[in-house]
Amino acid sequence: MSKLKHRLLAESDGALNAITLGELADQGVEVFCWCNRCSHNAVLPTARLLLEMGPAMAVPEVGAGLRCSGCGSKDVATRPAWPSLGQVTRHG
Ligand SMILES: [Zn+2]
Repeated sequence: MSKLKHRLLAESDGALNAITLGELADQGVEVFCWCNRCSHNAVLPTARLLLEMGPAMAVPEVGAGLRCSGCGSKDVATRPAWPSLGQVTRHG
């Protein structure tokens, strides 16, 4: 069943057009993770995910290999943490 699901994901336009970890690293953008079960969220360093999953991994598929640190659920969504769309963090 998981194989079928993966195939459907791979054939969807979203997966084909999805940005990869390698592209994200080039742009210095990190990965925003959201737990669909408990709404826990976090930003993970792209460099770390790159080492674990490789540069060709599509960002929306990264969540399939993650587990929520809050509730342990594997229902985790991932997307690029574009600075312009996220919260503004002020330094200093
Ligand atoms: Zn959770």
